[in-house]
Amino acid sequence: MRFLMRALLFLVILGGLVLGGAYLYAGTLPGPTIELKSPEKFVGQNTQLEFAVDASGTEVPNVDAVFEQDGQATTIFTTDASAQPQGEVKQEGPNRMFVIRPIGKQALPTLKAGSARVTVTATAPVLYGIRTASTSVTRDLEVRLDPPRVGVVSLHHFINHGGPEFVVFRATPPDVVAGVRVGTVEYPAFAGSTVGIQDPAVRVAFFVLGYDQDLTSPVIVFARDPAGNQATSNVQRKPSRKPFAKSRIEINDTFLQTVVPAIAENTPGAGIDTTDLLRGFLTINRDLRKQNNATIAALAAKTKPEMLWREAFSQLSNSAIESRFADYRTYYHQGKEIDQQVHLGFDLASLQQAAVESANRGIVILANYLGIYGNCVIVDHGLGVQSLYAHMSTLDVKEGDTVEKGQTLGRTGATGLAGGDHLHFTMLVNGVSVNPVELWDPHWMEDRVFRKIREAGGQAPTLK
Ligand SMILES: [Zn+2]
Repeated sequence: MRFLMRALLFLVILGGLVLGGAYLYAGTLPGPTIELKSPEKFVGQNTQLEFAVDASGTEVPNVDAVFEQDGQATTIFTTDASAQPQGEVKQEGPNRMFVIRPIGKQALPTLKAGSARVTVTATAPVLYGIRTASTSVTRDLEVRLDPPRVGVVSLHHFINHGGPEFVVFRATPPDVVAGVRVGTVEYPAFAGSTVGIQDPAVRVAFFVLGYDQDLTSPVIVFARDPAGNQATSNVQRKPSRKPFAKSRIEINDTFLQTVVPAIAENTPGAGIDTTDLLRGFLTINRDLRKQNNATIAALAAKTKPEMLWREAFSQLSNSAIESRFADYRTYYHQGKEIDQQVHLGFDLASLQQAAVESANRGIVILANYLGIYGNCVIVDHGLGVQSLYAHMSTLDVKEGDTVEKGQTLGRTGATGLAGGDHLHFTMLVNGVSVNPVELWDPHWMEDRVFRKIREAGGQAPTLK
């Protein structure tokens, strides 16, 4: 009897020790992990709280999110079914949930400008549920409810279809991201100080009414603050239709034999078929053209936030225009239509191996072989404006070189997709190809750009 009692006591103590040990051990186990994705800092009119909770256990954790402002704490999300759950829960895996809960002014009417704090807490059972483990993440926030302000300053915006225009506008507060939107295409604006305008609210931007966009595409200036609040203002403008040419390009076998193997050799990995030259040509004309244009567009990010030029741009000296901007080309081989592409530049013919002059002052950002463009130079002139020179036989500059207007970049040639010696010349605004005719015209540069800068209190030369 006594032995039995002792044995029992021993078992109870042992059991207690095991349970106690397990309980203590469970206390060291980690709780669920919380990833607070949004907001990073700012809360605006339409901000969303977004977070993910990962729990390794089999049971769904209890999750709460509390929003605090001015000493008032409000539960804005909870998995407690007896409360009124708000927000959207996506089960992203057996143990992972993703929560989206709007916390802008619409969703939280008591929201005020100023500082705030959000805390997400997740609690899950550990070790067969003998204990729970909690994790919480807190973030300090700043609520901004006033929308930014934006308004156009410059007058007279006349845009030719496919052409550029320049706008001076005000955008506040100072930390807004501002620019121009044409249809769905955005152009970044630069601080007015880059052209000598003292007022810190003033921004300047070049933009394009794309040849492939509708003539009546909306043109607005916008300002977005870090809390996502946005303001826009319409740019008064007069767009003019510019008819684009249509042309017929005959592709013969001599041309295929000249260009296809050469481009294939210089562009390894592009998958160009050199046994079937017509197939190879179509890969070049479609896929490689698209790739090369994407490479060119990405170089827009390298632009300097200042206007590096003081004059209008120039056309290659003593050159004849063989083909204009946005020429719609249909390609034929042995009388059969094989392809259609748009020619995004000017073809300028001069003497063979003529000196290629930089159209304006700038910095060389590309001097290399580039697929259909052959030996190619791209010069950045700042404020998103860049010029491209293609099919060159030799390159006399390298990336990083500062070049003056008229400085020799190399010699014309027929490298890349070219039938004979000529210069293919393209102007770009933030990576979008634009008709260079306006930029070549000193009257346009004076009236649309330099005058607007001077009228806003900045510094730009007067062109006659
Ligand atoms: Zn061309």
